[in-house]
Amino acid sequence: MSPTYAAVALDLPVDRLFTYRVPVQLRDHAAVGHRVRVPFRGRSLVGIVAEVENDEPSFNTLDVAEAPDEQPLLTDDLLALGRFVARYYGSSLGEALAAMLPRGVRKRAGKAERLHVVLAMDPRTEPDGKPLTEAQTRVVRQLKRHADGYSLVELCRRARCSNSPVHTLEKRGIVAVEKRAAPDPDDEMQAPVERRDAPTPTKAQAAVIDAVREAVDAEAFAAFLLLGVTGSGKTEIYLRAIRDCRARGRQAIVLVPEIALTPQTVRRFRRRFDKVEVLHSAMTEAERASAWRRIRAGEADVVIGPRSAIFAPVPKLGLLVVDEEHEATFKQQNTPRYHARDVGIVRAQRAGAVVLLGSATPSLETYRHALEGKYGLLRLPERVGGRSLPTVQIADRRSGDERVRARTHMTRTLEIRIEEALRKQGQVILLQNRRGYATSVSCRRCGFVVACTNCDVALTYHRSDAVSMCHLCGHEEHVPSACPDCALPDLKMHGIGTQTVEEELGQRFPDARVARMDSDSMATRASYEEVLDRFGRREIDILVGTQMIAKGLDFPHVLLVGIISADTAIQLPDFRAGERTFALLAQVAGRAGRGESDGRVVIQTLMPDHPAITMAADQDFEAFAKKELEERRQFGYPPFRRLLRVVVRGKHAHAVEQRALDLQALIVEAATKETQILGPGIPPIPRVQGMHRRQLLVKAPGHREIADVLACLRSVPRPRRGIEESWDVDPVGVL
Ligand code: ADP
Ligand code: ZN
Repeated sequence: MSPTYAAVALDLPVDRLFTYRVPVQLRDHAAVGHRVRVPFRGRSLVGIVAEVENDEPSFNTLDVAEAPDEQPLLTDDLLALGRFVARYYGSSLGEALAAMLPRGVRKRAGKAERLHVVLAMDPRTEPDGKPLTEAQTRVVRQLKRHADGYSLVELCRRARCSNSPVHTLEKRGIVAVEKRAAPDPDDEMQAPVERRDAPTPTKAQAAVIDAVREAVDAEAFAAFLLLGVTGSGKTEIYLRAIRDCRARGRQAIVLVPEIALTPQTVRRFRRRFDKVEVLHSAMTEAERASAWRRIRAGEADVVIGPRSAIFAPVPKLGLLVVDEEHEATFKQQNTPRYHARDVGIVRAQRAGAVVLLGSATPSLETYRHALEGKYGLLRLPERVGGRSLPTVQIADRRSGDERVRARTHMTRTLEIRIEEALRKQGQVILLQNRRGYATSVSCRRCGFVVACTNCDVALTYHRSDAVSMCHLCGHEEHVPSACPDCALPDLKMHGIGTQTVEEELGQRFPDARVARMDSDSMATRASYEEVLDRFGRREIDILVGTQMIAKGLDFPHVLLVGIISADTAIQLPDFRAGERTFALLAQVAGRAGRGESDGRVVIQTLMPDHPAITMAADQDFEAFAKKELEERRQFGYPPFRRLLRVVVRGKHAHAVEQRALDLQALIVEAATKETQILGPGIPPIPRVQGMHRRQLLVKAPGHREIADVLACLRSVPRPRRGIEESWDVDPVGVL
């Protein structure tokens, strides 16, 4: 038997496959879609066989070292989807496949135990000897906050570091890494639940259910926008559609934003279906790998997960649900920067599956497809059970009557409504989408602003830890007692954070039970669930939080939702600022009045006439979308034009600028006349984590032109050392 040759996709930023000889004894296990271990420049890497050839190549080849799979890991369908992702978003096939396969699957799963990290020293003392690096300091600070410690995965996420600072701290005896098998705090996701029968659909729901069933029964691609106001019973539609899909022997994938992936959400699905597989961030690599195998074997009827679940290897996809389809978290923020909803559409087209995109505030891309008839438009304009949408009041923070009195950020209107809600034994949700206590600290005399040493942003003061913190890189420092510039001891705090609101509530409503929910106070996923459970049991009267509290919460006793400042995001120099603000306000407003009593919403703003605010107050998505679409058309933004964003980063501003100019010149040559190239410009935050940034924005009539520019970028020799560049096709933001 003559040898064969395998073209292997490796997780490297190189736009090609690597050919290896397959020894005869490995032949059966090194077919297309199989994993292989191969030597690469003195290293040993795991890759996926993308092609098999019989002819000996003209160059020398090394041998495949290992081929562990009896079955191909990736079906032809998923491999083809990987090729699409690589081509569309401009990555190598290996990078795309690496994003599709859980690490535990790619690298052969580790053990089932989870590594848990706790502080080994007395938390009141400082670690001795050598000073700690910034990353190590963050690790220690996180552990000081939480005596029980964190799983290694969670700790690294919170401290924004790799495993290595933790292991260094372990060697120095500052932290201890323990192996813990159980209990798994997230077992709740898999715990048995009582089955419930489906409620009788409302008339509006029944019409939607029929339309979706017809499409599912046709077993051909179709996409729908389910435009339903908050509380209109969209989840019930998903559940019925899944049932219909299952009846045809096909499987469903349900994508939800990470924050909405709670036991409450999962329970709603598990009450109806036996074979539900949940993919969530707290799973170990081994757990993920075994879930992946069960899904691959067709043992799950429904897979629920965040964006990466779009690659779940269900054998026969019949239905894809994307809940809150407008959420930015469906876009991956590193290579390949894919959008799970958009990849989902492509996957469904190839599989002949039905796509259901649900939202009260859909993205303008999706809404436009629906208006143009590319997607079916299904509306649920009313809340279930004859409940009305909440009454919204706009409170002008500038006006005389409302003037914010000394030391409080609450208007009279909001105060009165809080009193009223509490008097009626109702609950209150207050949104302030900035964490911390003061969003900047500056000198009263010279105006000096205390800024991050690594990034061009002001540090946020966190009262609970008495430190100033950079929300971009995590850098922390103690607040100086005098101005670092002019030495005058007269520093002033500005801006409102969740901690400020919490403190003011304590002074103004001393009897109310207040809880704060933001990424500082929610030490773990479990504490997030715990606060929500307490809120559900009405042990908390007022819940203050960031956008964490805006999504999906369904509590019947919430009578009032207050927005402390609607203006935080509205003026960002991003073409989606209005869309984002509208969505956030409408979503959080939707938390009110979900029970028997009517709900109220108070929106505090300095811009009471801004359309994103007035239209959110009217809760009229379609009016807002029509106006916004008109502006996008006029100024040439998506969905009318396609965008490609190129960012160059490096330690030296001059070198970064030069590289950006070089790229611009190359792109101009490759681009068609209809393609606009903006920049290189300095982004609103010029320096992040010590890296200067320049960006180019390419605007084109369609993806074809973007693809030409991508091809050009990918053929350019890599930049010299110390400079990094990345590109983002269809970016969700341009900041
Ligand atoms: P949305 O996702 O549109 O905000 P949900 O699916 O959360 O709305 O539904 C809101 C509430 O109404 C939930 O408590 C849900 O259980 C309930 N509900 C939905 N459909 C029905 C129905 N047909 N009959 C009774 N209750 C329903
Ligand atoms: Zn920083």
